[in-house]
Amino acid sequence: MTIRCLICNSSVVLSQEETQAIALLIGLLDGFLKGIQGAPSATPGGAVASPLGHTVSMMVEGISGATSNWADTQAFIREHRKFHFMGYDHLCLRCGALFDDSPDVESPLDG
Ligand SMILES: [Zn+2]
Repeated sequence: MTIRCLICNSSVVLSQEETQAIALLIGLLDGFLKGIQGAPSATPGGAVASPLGHTVSMMVEGISGATSNWADTQAFIREHRKFHFMGYDHLCLRCGALFDDSPDVESPLDG
């Protein structure tokens, strides 16, 4: 089922749920990468005593970073909903139209 824009009939339409999922993924990845940067690094020669232990330590730091970034990500999602979607369900990326779900906007050919 493809949602089409009510104005320009474009299929390049984002829903609030899709946007939220994308923002969550980006926020978690951002926090994970920040956490990894804070993990203890390898020696200047690049060797570590326990490569597995070092990798697990980096993953723990990354998960910790993702968790600590959660509040910022949620705030970003709330602002995005408020200012970009303004209470509507869908945003057309071609013309910028905002609209809600409607049985009339579904195209049966797009399955
Ligand atoms: Zn449109």
